[in-house]
Amino acid sequence: MNRRDLLKLGVLGTTVALTNTYASTPSQTTAPSTNAINKVQNKKRVIIIGGGYAGLTVAKNIRLHDTTSEILVFDPKNIFASCPYSNLWFGNVKDTNYEQLIFSPLVSGAKYDYQVINDKVVSINKEKKTISTLDKEYEYSILVVATGIEYDYSTYGLDETTAKECATLYPASYTGGYEQLSLKKKIEEFKGGTFVITVPKGAYRCPPAPYERAALIASYFKEKKLNAKVVILDPREKPTTKAKGFLEAFNTLYKDYIEYLPTSNITNIDTKNKTITYDTFDIASKAFVQKKLNFDDANIIPSNKASSLITKSGLAVNSQGWARVKTPSFQSLNDENIYLVGDVVGEYPFPKSAQMAHSSGIILGEQIAKILKGQNPQFGLKLPGNICYSMVSPDTAIAVTHQAYLENGEVKVKTELFEDADNITAVSTKSWYFGITQNIFE
Ligand SMILES: Cc1cc2nc3c(=O)[nH]c(=O)nc-3n(C[C@H](O)[C@H](O)[C@H](O)COP(=O)(O)OP(=O)(O)OC[C@H]3O[C@@H](n4cnc5c(N)ncnc54)[C@H](O)[C@@H]3O)c2cc1C
Repeated sequence: MNRRDLLKLGVLGTTVALTNTYASTPSQTTAPSTNAINKVQNKKRVIIIGGGYAGLTVAKNIRLHDTTSEILVFDPKNIFASCPYSNLWFGNVKDTNYEQLIFSPLVSGAKYDYQVINDKVVSINKEKKTISTLDKEYEYSILVVATGIEYDYSTYGLDETTAKECATLYPASYTGGYEQLSLKKKIEEFKGGTFVITVPKGAYRCPPAPYERAALIASYFKEKKLNAKVVILDPREKPTTKAKGFLEAFNTLYKDYIEYLPTSNITNIDTKNKTITYDTFDIASKAFVQKKLNFDDANIIPSNKASSLITKSGLAVNSQGWARVKTPSFQSLNDENIYLVGDVVGEYPFPKSAQMAHSSGIILGEQIAKILKGQNPQFGLKLPGNICYSMVSPDTAIAVTHQAYLENGEVKVKTELFEDADNITAVSTKSWYFGITQNIFE
């Protein structure tokens, strides 16, 4: 693949959206009387928990292949606030604004005939095939769990109270909504000094996002000529992905604005005194030493974990708590009526990304439609692919692609890196974002 192909891929989402349109009148589900189970009636019912990139893509793609089922999407949030593209807005990249991150699932629900119920699912009963919110219980024929990530501050040595303080004072902005507004305000009001960004330990969503964020915030501070430094505390030896491209940008474009601290394992955060304690490898003494870093403001991104709903419901998970599925499908390892998709899945060597969630959601939607029609879903016939762009300055970007393939029954991934930052990739970054959101919402 060359740069021109990357540009084409960026535009591809838009083309797909234009050709995949389907419209019909939304169906109605009447609410049951209190405590009664909202039963599956004459139509088969798919319940999707989570109306993010994965969940809404599955909803639309079931409908594109099956017009008879009832589709209910549960999400407590009544707006969809995108994480992709948010770093560009944080970095004040020209022509970006918050409205570009916001979408209404109600609009796409009406267009693709699925219902959006603004409620949180608190439990799944696999035996009864029901899910429950705080006050209602709904029966399903097929269940899709697409609940994304939750935060885990315990790996930074924080107890529940300090974790709450940390989340309030230094929001991660790793999910959409209020946290994003809060981080933007911090960046805009920063007067100078040390601004810390932490890279999560373990598997986390969008591996390049903390580095892209650091680069764009540094670019903004540089443009404002602030006496400021973005300090990146990374538990790894080098950036998780696109290391060459990011380090090149840090060392050239942001020499005076970014300090990258690898092998920095955070052990505590004093939220009031603004001090981070971390262990790091000291080359001189060839041993790990403890260090302290004082900061003026911070974006503390904690470890990510899958929703506790998954473990609570007895669905199979791996040792890190991410969902297990039957290779090469998205079907739960221990329940054939339940499918898991998006960032919650820990089975495959895919990065946790919106593009992977979307690509998987398209495949899963078609498979579920086949199951609803009594056909063979042909698991493994189609496998997802990913393209992930990262801006390293307001007008240049780098990229990586991943394509899943089957080898001896195992799902593997082919990775290609594009780490020489250029403008054509930055143009692709923007068209990719508008393409994928158009595909889901329009
Ligand atoms: C700063 C940043 C930049 C990024 N940039 C990119 C990018 O450029 N390209 C890319 O491909 N990816 C990017 N990503 C990654 C992308 O955002 C995620 O991988 C993607 O959102 C995963 O989709 P998902 O549907 O699994 O989770 P989400 O999109 O998070 O959706 C999960 C939904 O489930 C809901 N939910 C959770 N629990 C419950 C419950 N109990 N009941 C009902 N609903 C529930 C949540 O409210 C949420 O709406 C970025 C991420 C970040 C943080």
